Amino acid sequence: MAADDDALKDLIRGAGLRVTRARLTVMRLLSHVEGPVSHAEVNASLTGDGWDRATLYRNLIALTEAGLLRRVDVGDHVWRFERVPESNHAHVEHHPHFLCTACGDVACLPELAIQAPASAVPRALAAGQVSIQLRGLCDECIAI
Ligand SMILES: [Zn+2]
Ligand SMILES: [Zn+2]
Repeated sequence: MAADDDALKDLIRGAGLRVTRARLTVMRLLSHVEGPVSHAEVNASLTGDGWDRATLYRNLIALTEAGLLRRVDVGDHVWRFERVPESNHAHVEHHPHFLCTACGDVACLPELAIQAPASAVPRALAAGQVSIQLRGLCDECIAI
């Protein structure tokens, strides 16, 4: 939607990046998915539209370095990407990720987010370079 795109363009410019069609496409995708997505999943969603894998990867990294996305590691050696929530400046939000040990699905648990004060905690925590993980069976797998 056009209004959505305008907000995303502002966000990309605000992070000091030039707005390109690839960046907008990646941000749009990551704004509409639930849970973090891997490069492979981004490819699966977008290569049908003519995007090539290298372009998508480069832009995932550029958006991550600009602070608009972050990499999530749930311990299965797959980097996943998600949008960094727009938050206030005094706190960094960390939400846990739930990894299903049967199907490998990863879900965000924003309801369980912790707010780390920007001071008096390890620097990695204040900078958002930590991960909180929960493991178990997702609803679909537990029903089998
Ligand atoms: Zn599962
Ligand atoms: Zn998440």
